[in-house]
Amino acid sequence: MIKSHILGYPRIGAQRELKFALERHWRGEVDAGALEAVGAALRARHWAEQRDAGLDYVTVGDFSFYDQVADHVLLFGCAPSRFRFDGSATALARTFTLARGVESEAAAAACGCGQPHGGAAALEMTKWFDTNYHYLVPEFDAATRFTLDPERLLGQVAEARALGHPVKVALLGPLSFLWLGKAQGAGFDRLSLLDALLPHYAALLARLKDAGAEWVQLDEPILGLDLSAAWALAYERAYHVLHAVGLPILLATYFSPLQEHLSMACKLPVAGLHVDAVRAPEELAPVADWLPAHKILSVGIVDGRNVWRADLDDCLARLAPLLARRPGALWLAPSCSLLHVPLTLAHDAAVDPHVRPWLAGAVEKLAEVRTLQRALTEGEEAVAADLAAARAARAARRASPRVHRPEVAQRLAALPSDADRRASPYATRIDRQQARLRLPAFPTTTIGSFPQTAAIRAARAAHRRGELDAAAYAAAMHAEIEHAVRQQEELGLDVLVHGEAERNDMVEYFGEQLDGFAFTAGGWVQSYGSRCVKPPILYGDVARPAPMTVSWTGYAQSLTQRPMKGMLTGPVTILQWSFVRDDQPRAASCAQLALAIRDEVLDLEAAGIGIIQIDEPALREGLPLRRAGWDAYLAWAGRAFRIAAAGVADETQVHTHMCYAEFNDILPAIAALDADVITIETSRSGMELLRGFGAFAYPNGIGPGVYDIHSPRVPDAGAMLDLLRKAGAVIPARQLWINPDCGHKTRAWPETVAALRNMVEAARQLRLEAGRHGAAAPA
Ligand code: GLN
Ligand code: ZN
Repeated sequence: MIKSHILGYPRIGAQRELKFALERHWRGEVDAGALEAVGAALRARHWAEQRDAGLDYVTVGDFSFYDQVADHVLLFGCAPSRFRFDGSATALARTFTLARGVESEAAAAACGCGQPHGGAAALEMTKWFDTNYHYLVPEFDAATRFTLDPERLLGQVAEARALGHPVKVALLGPLSFLWLGKAQGAGFDRLSLLDALLPHYAALLARLKDAGAEWVQLDEPILGLDLSAAWALAYERAYHVLHAVGLPILLATYFSPLQEHLSMACKLPVAGLHVDAVRAPEELAPVADWLPAHKILSVGIVDGRNVWRADLDDCLARLAPLLARRPGALWLAPSCSLLHVPLTLAHDAAVDPHVRPWLAGAVEKLAEVRTLQRALTEGEEAVAADLAAARAARAARRASPRVHRPEVAQRLAALPSDADRRASPYATRIDRQQARLRLPAFPTTTIGSFPQTAAIRAARAAHRRGELDAAAYAAAMHAEIEHAVRQQEELGLDVLVHGEAERNDMVEYFGEQLDGFAFTAGGWVQSYGSRCVKPPILYGDVARPAPMTVSWTGYAQSLTQRPMKGMLTGPVTILQWSFVRDDQPRAASCAQLALAIRDEVLDLEAAGIGIIQIDEPALREGLPLRRAGWDAYLAWAGRAFRIAAAGVADETQVHTHMCYAEFNDILPAIAALDADVITIETSRSGMELLRGFGAFAYPNGIGPGVYDIHSPRVPDAGAMLDLLRKAGAVIPARQLWINPDCGHKTRAWPETVAALRNMVEAARQLRLEAGRHGAAAPA
């Protein structure tokens, strides 16, 4: 029998109902009961969509009010002790406490002992594999104990059963759960908790079985990573214990090839194995060979990570040999949970109608899976119309002149091989730049954006609605720019920025001005908690019809004698934060973006801008999940950045900026970008990053962030000076810049000005100290 299912579904709701209900609840406007009702309604609707599409099971357990990994922390009763969960708070309240932390006053009030409380920091957040979804990181230490608290999950199983659905429960598997957590305490190995955790997983499976679940899907995406032998070996033991319960287990892997874990995964004592046939198409045949005939093979055949309509003919051609080999044990599914794509795109009015038929959101992907199932069971004639429609859409996309613009390919092919190299080495460039810019020692600057105030957002919205004409909008933005310039001059910053008032978002702003991008009105994808993003869709060859930033930056420069930094988003970050083409390699799309940014860089230079920053905060997150792929990625990503940057004269100073990540393991690749200056997030880790930068001897200018812009807290100049002294111990004075961690767009003006005033004061003191110690100003 061929069955159909999904690994998980978007939970935020077609109208982002979950987001708005959560935020109302956090503001105290709706109580927990009302929020729970919104959750229940969304689950019911999403299960109905799965059933109506004709899937054989609905998936339960993929819903979460905040994050599914945090839900596992509560499910297994292993929240860190600092939260002091004692059974009095509801599960919902505990979820939000894990996610958002406890204010000290709240902790004090909750305890009532009258003593001061330190509060409890929220769980850390980090990216879920190579997606833009962020999960809350479990914390494990030698004292971690587990207890099973399955009531919420069992309640959801009961809901689905009451609605008449055949239920498959989706959970994170025990090894991935432990692996995704962080170990606290020297020498502690979180794998040592497996034996304590397993009985609770087994007990949970037994409860799910009693509750009427027909299957449990245990997600073990870490099987696509480089694992140490100890982790790989633990699988056999763990799944023996779970298998003994008697609830059929579908082991789900996705995002990355199994490679050396393939035969082990096939041999585990489970009833079925799901593989990602989109990310690892080459493994489908070996898995079909290795997997014992009595086991279910679930084929992730429809892309769960991207928005393109599937090539159903190609899917059928790939499924046919499997069917011949494995009669009776084939399931069809999207490659991974549909959490990572918009709920639906079929009717999105904002999407260019030329492009819209090429797209598929989660709802459309359910239909694709079902169509494939029917084609295989009832014959292709039964779904001839659906197959023809898919074929026509793919053909239109393949032939579209909006997708294929030969001049773009020709230009790339004609690019000299040294187009990604600056004319002179850094040592020569920096002298020429300094002769032009005349910056003091330890120059001060900011990362780009200033507060996106309510007034700015209102002006942009009015302009979009057509209520504010272009001239009035430009005047409003010019006023914002002028305000930002005057503030910075008054603060005494050395290198100014225009403040990015005109930008909604650092990727969308550029995408909207480039050919080859489409935008949605409702294509929201959950980023974390109630936060969603609406990634642009890169569908065609990229071209830049006109300059994108020159007039704003030029206006800003006209207001001041100080150097004005032009501000661009780099090709790798634009690629990383968009849905991108699946009809050519990512590297090819990135190179096209690089050419467009290069043109903008040269136009800024021609307009007299002497410093140009190309932000690449997403460079690191593009790294492949397996180390073996890192070098190749870093090579094409680095070349793309350099193509964007390297067209300028020696006198023009190129900056880049990175944040949100650990960079120590890719320092050589960062240095190879050959930016004249990098500003980089470090303050949250107390300059931990600098150990790497010190040991590596980073060759060019570097500005380690001296305060965290994510917090409204204003550190004093002394604290910043301390960080700068730490930086000064590993970075030569000539190379050191002074700046915050990231842009100020989420902050308000008063705290922004206060923090920058302290930063400028810290710079002044550092210059005094350095003067006393005889350090030289930049050459
Ligand atoms: N220039 C951008 C800003 O300041 C950089 C944002 C980012 O790094 N994410 O907002
Ligand atoms: Zn940043």
